[in-house]
Amino acid sequence: MTRLTFLGTGDAMGVPRIYCECGVCQEARSRGGNRRLRSSLHICDKRSGDTLIDCGPDFGRQMELAGLRSIHRVLITHAHFDHIGGLVEWADACRWLGESGQLYAPQIVIDEIQGRFPWLHQSIDFLPMDEGIQIGMWKVTCWRVNHGKNGYSFAFRFDHEETGIAWAYCSDAIGLSEEQIKPLYDLNLLILGTSFFKEPFPPETRSVYDVTEALELMKIVQPESVIFTHLSHDIDVGRDYSLPEHAMFAKTGMTFSF
Ligand SMILES: [Zn+2]
Ligand SMILES: [Zn+2]
Repeated sequence: MTRLTFLGTGDAMGVPRIYCECGVCQEARSRGGNRRLRSSLHICDKRSGDTLIDCGPDFGRQMELAGLRSIHRVLITHAHFDHIGGLVEWADACRWLGESGQLYAPQIVIDEIQGRFPWLHQSIDFLPMDEGIQIGMWKVTCWRVNHGKNGYSFAFRFDHEETGIAWAYCSDAIGLSEEQIKPLYDLNLLILGTSFFKEPFPPETRSVYDVTEALELMKIVQPESVIFTHLSHDIDVGRDYSLPEHAMFAKTGMTFSF
């Protein structure tokens, strides 16, 4: 069995945003239903052990909240701070544990990370995954996706060799080309980033799908289930948005098993 757990479901700033006193941020401070750490997914698999997708600045807290003492393998979607800000802390943890962490990412992402943190290789092995990798029974492929004004990110698709189950993680993307959409067909589960419900800003300033656009994309690729993550303070998980039955918002600690 493979179990996915959402350790973080927030956008680049998380929720609450430090400067903001909107209803969602205030709710996040008090009751906490909307409290969201930066986006990260834990994959727990009987055969292959623990894997993390992305390692943002909330990494240490996320490990504590999840009761995880160590993580051996991390996959990185792109080198934005909200997805890599925890790598220094992870490298330190690896050093204290006396083991090398395995970081998988496309070569271009590895180059960016190493440029910014040139000492990480002392505790972390950097492993390019451009040609795909195998994690237990899962064949993992990655491809470049449009990230709007923020450039590019990568999405990951997991195909199980025995069961044929397939799922994908695409947290930072907008306006995907036809070619970039292809790997999103025939999925049992799609985890997609949607920062706003209906983002009011001009297209050239945007970098992540909003929910209304994501629902249009769902009509094309038709995954069995879709979970929206990378949510800003625009999304109130306590509100009824009348999402279709197969769609839902991710919440911290939420799990999904295959
Ligand atoms: Zn992001
Ligand atoms: Zn990003």
